[in-house]
Amino acid sequence: MADLQPVRGTRDLIGEEQRRHAHVIDTARRVAALYGLEEWATPIFEDTRVFARTLGDTSDVVTKEMYTFEDRGGDSLTLRPENTAGVCRALVSNGLTQSLPQKVFYAGPMFRYERPQKGRYRQFHQIGAELIGPSEPLADAEIIALGWQILEALGVAGDTVLELNTLGDAASRGAYREALVAHFSAHRDVLSAESRDRLERNPLRILDSKDPGDRALVADAPTIHAVLTPEAAAFYDGLRAHLTRLRVPFRENPRIVRGLDYYNHTAFEFVTDKLGAQGAVMAGGRYDGLVAQMGGPAVPAVGWAAGIERLAMLLDAPPVPTAPVAVVPVGGATEEAAALDATQALRAAGIRAEMAYRGNLKRRMERANRIGARAAVLIGEAELARGVVQVKDLATGEQGEVALADLPARLA
Ligand code: ATP
Ligand code: MG
Repeated sequence: MADLQPVRGTRDLIGEEQRRHAHVIDTARRVAALYGLEEWATPIFEDTRVFARTLGDTSDVVTKEMYTFEDRGGDSLTLRPENTAGVCRALVSNGLTQSLPQKVFYAGPMFRYERPQKGRYRQFHQIGAELIGPSEPLADAEIIALGWQILEALGVAGDTVLELNTLGDAASRGAYREALVAHFSAHRDVLSAESRDRLERNPLRILDSKDPGDRALVADAPTIHAVLTPEAAAFYDGLRAHLTRLRVPFRENPRIVRGLDYYNHTAFEFVTDKLGAQGAVMAGGRYDGLVAQMGGPAVPAVGWAAGIERLAMLLDAPPVPTAPVAVVPVGGATEEAAALDATQALRAAGIRAEMAYRGNLKRRMERANRIGARAAVLIGEAELARGVVQVKDLATGEQGEVALADLPARLA
């Protein structure tokens, strides 16, 4: 079994990388709670139908990126490529469409078969937020404000720009579809093969094409604004007004369409120029049709997902673990037993404490320095007889006697 490596596109998170990762989740979880969101955890694999139809059968995710397999019982299962569909499935499965609104936060791994590169993996991780039930643009504004506040709490908001767009309602979208078909049909012969296919099936998707030739045609394409219905325009006006009131800065970008098919009205992305080609850190929008597609009633909803790896890379300084106290027995079994008791007493008092299992005093002190201990507690025979220990401050080198019973209080 020589040379076993993690599977291409997957990574081990160890040390600083895992600390960055955990810091993103902890921060997001804390801020999400301020907005009344509750955390859900749905399964990592689902019936393939949860994703296949709902994400759209012309989306990149469904056509090229899903990890789909048949299990031993012959069922088609898919490792979740995103979690909004799973949350909506869970809403319906658990009868929660009767108890709206549901405000949901989640964090966990997602799986997409993509070409791995910096900031793009086959197993990656997302935090996400969903507001299920409200149809008002205030909900869109609030969920975006939550995203912004998380980016601020992480200290990365200044590295990002919020790009905002509307995809309108069904009527606007129908009209826009026609306008796009007219525009792209006139240049059919220069479109990429993929976009030609999309011209029939989902012309909106062409706006998201990464093909350089397509990009030029996309630049000249009409925007949806000319064909927005008065209702859709009013919704978008409301959203912009609320965002301004909430002091969330944004830039309008009529080209934002999002990669999945289930969006309507609001579409947005927080983008950065600090991560090369992988510029999208947080993305989302309104998806009023998804719960019905999942077999539930018509339930409006809005949400976003953010890539934890990309946010972790943007973090300025990696969070450092709190420095421990090293407990060092000087002597034999009696001192070691006393040291073990002292270590547990410190931990019970909420103080990070570690005790080395072996080695002479010099070795153990070296180890205390290596783990970045702030203090060493030296437990020797003579002192133990008097109920005291030596505490050495490893930053200043100062050393003094402390009563064993006072140890947790003195080191708190
Ligand atoms: P991209 O345009 O970079 O492919 P996307 O539109 O496919 O992103 P979404 O489906 O909107 O991404 O997912 C939301 C967020 O999840 C993205 O903004 C990004 O931060 C992150 N993300 C998506 N795919 C990956 C991946 N393969 N590896 C790491 N992060 C990812
Ligand atoms: Mg993608």
